[in-house]
Amino acid sequence: MTPAPDPARYDLDALRTRLLPERGGDVDDSIPQLAAADPDLCALAIALPDGTVRRSRDADVPFSIQSAVKPFLFALALADTDGDALDRVGIEPTGESFDAIKLESGTGRPPNPMVNAGALLTASLVEGGDPDERAGRIARGLAAFAGRELDVDEDVAHNEHLLGDRNHALAHLMRAEGTLAVSADDAVAVYARACATLVDAATLAVMGATLALGGVNPCTGDRVIPERVARDVVSVMATCGVYDGSGRWMRAVGIPAKSSVSGAIVLSAPGRLGAATVSPPLDAQGTSVRGHRASEVLSEELDLHSFATR
Ligand code: GLN
Repeated sequence: MTPAPDPARYDLDALRTRLLPERGGDVDDSIPQLAAADPDLCALAIALPDGTVRRSRDADVPFSIQSAVKPFLFALALADTDGDALDRVGIEPTGESFDAIKLESGTGRPPNPMVNAGALLTASLVEGGDPDERAGRIARGLAAFAGRELDVDEDVAHNEHLLGDRNHALAHLMRAEGTLAVSADDAVAVYARACATLVDAATLAVMGATLALGGVNPCTGDRVIPERVARDVVSVMATCGVYDGSGRWMRAVGIPAKSSVSGAIVLSAPGRLGAATVSPPLDAQGTSVRGHRASEVLSEELDLHSFATR
């Protein structure tokens, strides 16, 4: 039996160089700021239980977190409602795109917290009496996951709010079903701001590690969320994190993860490490093409597949 490879010695720049020639996928064009992303940006990082963060070149280049924020919104909603958020949002995969205009039949709840309907709802459940307070709580919570203050790209937040017609539609639908307690516009504004939070690959890897390591940030040592919340969130990342590509992802990569339209992927390998990749060109499911490939290679070469028995 070969010894398990050591992630502390893994050459992320060599992997980055292998990925760069891959030219598949298209950059998202839902808002001008995302359409302007550099298709050749490519970065990887891993964060380990001892607080070491390994980075490839460009792992400090900022981008908006977009849907990679969804696991963290779910975590904050669970923590702030003492688990009651699980009564308000489903946890079944949809097999449909991230912004499908569809709620759970019978209950009118969002199908899961990893699609837009679910994240609009979980963002509305974090503590705070008005949208500013909720946005503030989310900013502080994300900072605790990251181990540092995070800026918001105000232009991205503005355009996500202004141009997110499907998100407005989903919020209104949840209002009509009685499952969203705040106004539709407030829900979209707070969610849009969360999506516009700026991270880089290294920071996102630390955030993923905090989930993977039971809710304690390995760099600061702070407990950010209860262990049970971390377990719940990582479980739902495993089943729903890559939308209608979640089944294929789990087979090929085998690491709970969340994709996003900025081309970022956050990965949480339970008990092992957090990782993040960023490369803007996306496949048909909205998953970064290079990020998917990078995740497969990391899974294989660092022995991270959840169901591998070696
Ligand atoms: N801000 C985007 C939206 O709500 C996030 C979607 C995504 O990253 N898949 O449309």
